[in-house]
Amino acid sequence: MLIDGHGRTVNYLRISVTERCNFRCQYCMPEKPFSWVPQENLLSFEELFRFVRVAIDRGIEKIRITGGEPLLRQDLDRFIGMIHDYAPEIDLALTTNGYLLPETAPALKAAGLKRLNISIDSLKPAVAAQIAQKNVLPKVLEGIETALNLGLKVKLNMVPLRGINDGEILDLLEFARERGVRIRFIEYMENTHADASIQGLYGKEILDRIKRRYTIRKLGREGSSPAFHYEIVENGYVFGLIDPHKHDFCESCNRIRLTAEGYLIPCLYFDEAQSISRAVRGGDIDEAVEILDRVLADKPKENRWREGDENEGSDRAFYETGG
Ligand code: SAM
Ligand code: SF4
Repeated sequence: MLIDGHGRTVNYLRISVTERCNFRCQYCMPEKPFSWVPQENLLSFEELFRFVRVAIDRGIEKIRITGGEPLLRQDLDRFIGMIHDYAPEIDLALTTNGYLLPETAPALKAAGLKRLNISIDSLKPAVAAQIAQKNVLPKVLEGIETALNLGLKVKLNMVPLRGINDGEILDLLEFARERGVRIRFIEYMENTHADASIQGLYGKEILDRIKRRYTIRKLGREGSSPAFHYEIVENGYVFGLIDPHKHDFCESCNRIRLTAEGYLIPCLYFDEAQSISRAVRGGDIDEAVEILDRVLADKPKENRWREGDENEGSDRAFYETGG
């Protein structure tokens, strides 16, 4: 079992398989970074898997593949298949912007993928294009339908932004409800890579928008999920709210992140990271495990996002850590 320095059990590994992306979301990667990680520094699937295998042996029960846009990584289904074949009981999920799902979803499902979180910030083509800086909506919608038709379990993620898509919170909630899938509204997390003019809505403002139409009832968190769940009294639909500006979010944190270059990151906010690249490349898995233990021992108690804080937020890029 993996326990961090604050006594929390860590059983969830998020792996960012690439920092590259085919969108330029204003809150994440508004411009192409000055340089990408050189190709030769990216860990291969075999190298990543060397670590994944011991992480599973040590107590990881859930793995999420993310990015950047993970579907840009060639043959991702092969990596999914490696994890699934080693431990079919692992809760194996993927977070994607959905754009490449129409062509990739069948192979991912066949390889063992069970669940997908798809990000969708607007149902208006022009607004979606304003946020992602590309005409993305038709392919994202097609991607969602493809995943649902294949029987994959889907959740949707929306980041409400002031003056951009905050008028669509109810529309997206209805869109998800009609399809029988859960939506999670995510507070914008301030970071130095985002467009400086972007402002998010705090959780209570998101709830206020929903309360204009519905009565809502607090449910709670499911396990260590960062999402707090609410039920709409009128129709029983359940949605989630991810509000890292409140720190009860951190109390049950059960996760650790691995980047495409091999950095183990203990917290989404923080800059501290240690590389397992040399260890896994050299086949020294004991050294990788020692690094994992050190990172867990030093995992911070909580993030540093604060409501009303005017600072710029984290220096970590979401497209690098995988969100
Ligand atoms: N490209 C994929 C996608 O967009 O779903 C996966 C990576 S993305 C970094 C993972 C999640 O982080 C997405 O749901 C995205 O909306 C969210 N995200 C990115 N930047 C964010 C920010 N500054 N604040 C809150 N959520 C953010
Ligand atoms: Fe790409 Fe996802 Fe970041 Fe948007 S949120 S730029 S889709 S990594």
